[in-house]
Amino acid sequence: MKYILALDQGTTSSRAILFNDKAEVVTKTQKEFPQHYPKPGWVEHEPDDIWLSQISVAREAIEKANVSPRDIAAIGITNQRETTILWDRETGRAVYPAIVWQCRRSAERIEQLKQLGKADIIKDKTGLVLDAYFSASKIEWILDHVDGLRERAEKGEIAFGTVDTYLIWKLTRGNVHATDVTNASRTMLYNIHTLEWDDELLELFRIPRAILPEVMDSAGDFGMTHPEVIAGIEIPIRGVAGDQQASLFGQLCTDAGMVKNTYGTGCFMLMNTGDKIKNSQTGLISTIAWKRGDEIRYALEGSVFIAGAAIQWLRDELKMIYDAAQSEYYAGLVDDSDGVVVVPAFTGLGAPYWNMRARGAIFGLTRGTKREHIVRATLESIAYQTLDILTAMKQDTGLRVPHLQVDGGAAANGFLMQFQADMLNTTVRRLKVTETTALGAAYLAGLEVGVWQSVEQLRTLQADVTVFKPSKSRQWIEVHYDQWQDAVRRVME
Ligand code: ADP
Repeated sequence: MKYILALDQGTTSSRAILFNDKAEVVTKTQKEFPQHYPKPGWVEHEPDDIWLSQISVAREAIEKANVSPRDIAAIGITNQRETTILWDRETGRAVYPAIVWQCRRSAERIEQLKQLGKADIIKDKTGLVLDAYFSASKIEWILDHVDGLRERAEKGEIAFGTVDTYLIWKLTRGNVHATDVTNASRTMLYNIHTLEWDDELLELFRIPRAILPEVMDSAGDFGMTHPEVIAGIEIPIRGVAGDQQASLFGQLCTDAGMVKNTYGTGCFMLMNTGDKIKNSQTGLISTIAWKRGDEIRYALEGSVFIAGAAIQWLRDELKMIYDAAQSEYYAGLVDDSDGVVVVPAFTGLGAPYWNMRARGAIFGLTRGTKREHIVRATLESIAYQTLDILTAMKQDTGLRVPHLQVDGGAAANGFLMQFQADMLNTTVRRLKVTETTALGAAYLAGLEVGVWQSVEQLRTLQADVTVFKPSKSRQWIEVHYDQWQDAVRRVME
């Protein structure tokens, strides 16, 4: 029996999952680590916390599985994207805390670049919307705020990496300074057409080329772990991808038009657009889905700000439910929401509306409105927002969507998944394995070392799927969607 170890380094926790050659979970370990908020809008991690939590769960996953470490054919890595670390090449020590993707400290600089009219050229080259999320303005900020760092960076003494790169450096004890195309495509410095670091963008953000990692395919040779790091042996690192791209691959959305949606705190939706970059007219991001040998795949990406978070709101603020799962029970007690529509625009509305001033609202209340209706309408709002983005993706690409693949915490909600299928008039498919992000990293690595031979073989291993089939008429869909769109219009007034 051969195994693949997937390291899943997320925003709030590090996880490790050991998969066997049937792509089943053998062991799963997880450790949370501290979040730091030094000022309003700032978010940092200690790079040591990231590394130590990740390596300890990796070791634990192997020990708990009681397998010989020699039977681990390869490691795959997936990670929180865009988070930025700079370190000293000599000592391996970070020169500043990791600036996390959510951190807004460089927002002012981004505004300045917008004023200078740089948004279009950045969008053209990188596929990204000019925003402080992405690494470039974070790197620039660190170089500007640590004494003497820019000079040292220019002399080649400093290395930059997203979290994948930092982990690879640590795992190989500084032998390999590399990233993969998916992570590179989130830095705002990587040209997704030419597949190269872009000199003009490096100049714009005043970033010395000497700090950059080598960019590799998502499946390839990222070196061997140092024997002192895991189990006294060398293990090959063969697959690397940012978390959302890994989950797209883990869901085996390998053909153009295939879409996955992750229902977590927010929703992250990615559509495979094939070997072509599709430009969005609705503010979605174009990004690299993966590269394996000659095969490059691009994706369109959109997100819903408030999805599972609306269920947390029902639980914590409105106190209508004890736990998230109870929302399904209440939704099932009524036949419909009785005209109630909840718009959870708590932080404004994202794609395709892009209205940051909008705030949430509940419409259609009557004397007969019950908790059940409000709970149900809140779940429905998650499905409506997903429909909005999928509609935008279809418009942008003209692609037919065969079905929607789902994962994430709120995908456990059967009512929500059935309502989603009904509203989309498209089949929704939920895998038994919920860890699709780790699975994607494992697939990339396992295909590379021959644990699996092909995507077709992986498909046969993914047979355990719950399918939600659409069951409503066109008219039903239109009546409901009209109500939603009317409510959205009103919160934007
Ligand atoms: P994240 O990775 O963003 O923390 P998860 O994938 O762990 O998110 O999912 C957690 C979110 O899913 C929470 O916002 C929670 O309210 C929601 N959630 C979890 N279970 C259910 C459920 N059965 N029904 C609806 N929402 C749920």
